[in-house]
Amino acid sequence: MKEGFAKGFEYSDCWVDDARLVALNAIDARDKGADIHCRTRCVDAKVKEGIWNLTCESTNDGDRQIIKGKVLVNASGPWVSKFLNEEMESSSHHSIRMVKGSHIVVPKLFDHDRCYIFQNDDKRIVFAIPYEKDFTLIGTTDEDFQGDPADVKISQDEVEYLCRLSNSYFKTSISSNQVVHTYSGVRPLYDDGASQAQEATRDYVLKVDELDGAPALNIFGGKITTYRRLAEHAIEKLSGFFPEIGGAWTQGATLPGGDFPCEQATEQVSKLQKEYPFITKSHAERLIRSYGTRYSLLLGNATSLEDLGQNFGADLYEAEVRYLMIHEWAQKADDVLWRRSKLGLRIKGADKEALSEWMAQNIKKLAKAS
Ligand SMILES: Cc1cc2nc3c(=O)[nH]c(=O)nc-3n(C[C@H](O)[C@H](O)[C@H](O)COP(=O)(O)OP(=O)(O)OC[C@H]3O[C@@H](n4cnc5c(N)ncnc54)[C@H](O)[C@@H]3O)c2cc1C
Repeated sequence: MKEGFAKGFEYSDCWVDDARLVALNAIDARDKGADIHCRTRCVDAKVKEGIWNLTCESTNDGDRQIIKGKVLVNASGPWVSKFLNEEMESSSHHSIRMVKGSHIVVPKLFDHDRCYIFQNDDKRIVFAIPYEKDFTLIGTTDEDFQGDPADVKISQDEVEYLCRLSNSYFKTSISSNQVVHTYSGVRPLYDDGASQAQEATRDYVLKVDELDGAPALNIFGGKITTYRRLAEHAIEKLSGFFPEIGGAWTQGATLPGGDFPCEQATEQVSKLQKEYPFITKSHAERLIRSYGTRYSLLLGNATSLEDLGQNFGADLYEAEVRYLMIHEWAQKADDVLWRRSKLGLRIKGADKEALSEWMAQNIKKLAKAS
């Protein structure tokens, strides 16, 4: 850091790759009996004879199917109000405040594994986090947002704001030229009438409605950090309708592949390398971080790198892509590169095209195996 910063406070917090968290929760749900429909949009939700009838449309080929249920949980994030008013045609009025937040990724600015949180003159905080070994992630911004959340993207002003803040703390100066990746999202905050975007409540709000005798639970806001608390709270809200629903169970429950104490991650890396001596340490670390004990599903009986098949750049081989298509619903290159991993930071251009081609050629065959 620049000269002059001599004091700080240290505390511990959690960090997670959001893409892995979503995929692992979906696998966990499937293993517990849920049907997962990727690339499927619910275009209509109506109650018929006390039962929810959802018309769901594949965004791949437009095929439609009806899914029925005793209860509907509207967890559509920034689309929650739209879904409530348009697809459900509910007369309940809950408004949300959409607040955009953006991040930038730059080559790494410091060489240790701690994060920084900076308090700025505008009373906002901005963090700088070690990211995917060679990078630093800097975020976020807070701006009121209008429009379709699917179209959200960072503005030049936000890039400059984040670079400027980073430059006021770090010795290594950055500008928009150093930015290798950006991503933005929309926070669906329950509208509590706060005047400034950064002051709107970040707490989640759960609202149960009953339409023609069938319950619907609408979820506003939320944090990744408290997702299990939110989910248990949601179940509690529904237990009035379904006493048989059961109590809280997630405390201490591990996600698929996470069935070892977290302080034993290094031992897991060594175990993997003992079983598969041709895998380098950094490759093994990535596999353990992403898949935990599920790595054997991916590496199978391989005894050499050649056995893992085609290499698509970095340490991504056919065997991993195959695993992601069979077990984790991956269909397109971006699913593998961004929505199941962050390998998109390293695999681009011709390598990405080769991956797209391979996936398109193998999707039918692998769909049968899944
Ligand atoms: C910029 C930013 C920074 C954040 N930082 C943090 C942080 O540091 N820590 C933290 O804990 N949390 C953070 N959050 C909050 C966190 O991202 C959210 O709590 C989390 O993503 C909520 O997950 P969700 O599944 O409820 O909603 P979402 O992730 O928004 O998912 C909603 C899903 O519903 C789908 N959907 C919408 N309409 C339909 C339909 N008609 N049919 C079918 N599907 C539909 C959408 O495609 C989407 O996949 C941040 C959020 C943003 C925007």
